[in-house]
Amino acid sequence: MDFADFADRVDDIETEPADLEVTSLVAALLDEAGTDLPVVVRLLLGRIVPAWDSTTLDVGPSRCHEALARAAGPNVTADDVAEALAEAGEIGAVAESLDTGGQRGLAAFGETDPDPLTVVEVHDRLRSLAAAHGSGSQDRKVDALFGLFNRADPVPARYLARLVLSEMRIGVGEGTVRDAIAEAFDVPVDAVERALQVTNDYGAVAVRARDEGRPGLDAVDLSVGRPVRAMLAQAGTAADAVEAWDAVAVETKYDGARVQVHHDPGGETAVYSRNMADVTDALPEIVEFVADAVDVPAIIDGEALAVDVSGDPLPFQEVLRRFRRKHDVARMREEVAVELRAFDCLHVDGTDLLDAPLHERRERLEETLPSAVSPLSVTDDPDEIADREADALDAGHEGVMLKNPDATYTPGKRGRNWLKRKPDVETLDLVVTGAEWGEGRRANHLGTFLLSARDDRAGGDDFATIGKVATGISDERLADLSERLEPLIRRQDGTEVSLTPSVVFEVGYEEIQASPTYGSGYALRFPRFVAVREDKGPEDADALSRIERLVAD
Ligand code: AMP
Repeated sequence: MDFADFADRVDDIETEPADLEVTSLVAALLDEAGTDLPVVVRLLLGRIVPAWDSTTLDVGPSRCHEALARAAGPNVTADDVAEALAEAGEIGAVAESLDTGGQRGLAAFGETDPDPLTVVEVHDRLRSLAAAHGSGSQDRKVDALFGLFNRADPVPARYLARLVLSEMRIGVGEGTVRDAIAEAFDVPVDAVERALQVTNDYGAVAVRARDEGRPGLDAVDLSVGRPVRAMLAQAGTAADAVEAWDAVAVETKYDGARVQVHHDPGGETAVYSRNMADVTDALPEIVEFVADAVDVPAIIDGEALAVDVSGDPLPFQEVLRRFRRKHDVARMREEVAVELRAFDCLHVDGTDLLDAPLHERRERLEETLPSAVSPLSVTDDPDEIADREADALDAGHEGVMLKNPDATYTPGKRGRNWLKRKPDVETLDLVVTGAEWGEGRRANHLGTFLLSARDDRAGGDDFATIGKVATGISDERLADLSERLEPLIRRQDGTEVSLTPSVVFEVGYEEIQASPTYGSGYALRFPRFVAVREDKGPEDADALSRIERLVAD
């Protein structure tokens, strides 16, 4: 396909306002692309390599301006191009207006080929630019770009310039291309979607859909060495999790950077970031660790965590100092150590696990990797979730992740099967007005604490109850609290005591609900002890009016 024809079609697509019509125009273009199909798909998405390939053209705007100016003739300078860009706001419009394509100075650059540019030629030339490194490569890139612009009329020049600067912006996103592949080759969208998730190669998937139909798409496998999009999490609460699933898998949420480790025992071990960039060279400890520990081909999903000498987690910023680092890796390794915390497994020894439930993937992970697997507990008890969260926070981690043990791995999806439960942003300062004696090991201590807000309603009592908190409190803290609260006991009824208001707790919670259970008319869902507010007395506690405002928000 000639690049000029492609550009005309893309022009139609760009100016079409109706989404469905855009999909049909793209589908028609794919249908006619013939052997150029993979290239056409890539160029439509503004790429010259598949999404998982981190190769970039490495051509800055000023080089592109230089090449455009040269192709536009002796009266135009790179500064003119930059100025026009400032006005137009978009390189395509500038390139289109420059009257390139005059084939100026072809002989001087040894370009004697008068054939029209084809999509494949544009693609291949841009790819070879991407591969050019070393001294003088930037000048060679400008020469080569000049050669291309020199053969491009205004409309093709518009898209060529946008491709060079990775700014295609024709309103065709990945979803449109997915739908267009399905429409063009009469295959189900779901099958295209799955193949895309597995390969991240739109060109290759389009060819499969056309040549092999649905069976071909279904047969697409993971490949060790080719990264997969990471499954993502939504924000959610313990209540959401226990309501939605029979049981909840609870894991520590590490404050590090996502990594996907691809290990081939006979070959390489590679590490990819959440965006599928190759970060292998920056994280030699993780490469060495997995290469040593794993003796089958595997794709492992996890978090790279910076740790101090005693293995305690360091803040996220420390991992960033290591991530993507190209120079001085050995020295940085001395300064900031990085460890793997593995939490999922997508492939082991020839078996793809994307469609297996989490509990099975975890089993395979534990068999494959003897250590560095993040501990997981399965429960349907919100208190246990809160306890795990308190432990995770105490150990310096970010919080917990809640996962559906029966869910498959859905690459690239921010679905409802993984919930990130970060600590509450908002906490309340509430007065302890009652308590209950504990049971078993905690029988000698006051355990569950009754919480009250200041009652500032007209005619209200001093304090109005709003909930009970029992979770998030260590044994040591419990002993200390009992000692402080016992002298405040005013009345005892069975195991329940009422207390003179004195001590103020800072309490986290997931939600405030209207409820007849407590005097305030509200109840906290999943309250969690955060701290004793030593600096506050009962008169400084949060008032009901604040709680009413929070409910209204
Ligand atoms: P966020 O970046 O806030 O959207 O949270 C999701 C991220 O948490 C994931 O992409 C991981 O990098 C990270 N994470 C930390 N610990 C875990 C875990 N146990 N399971 C899944 N993701 C985790």
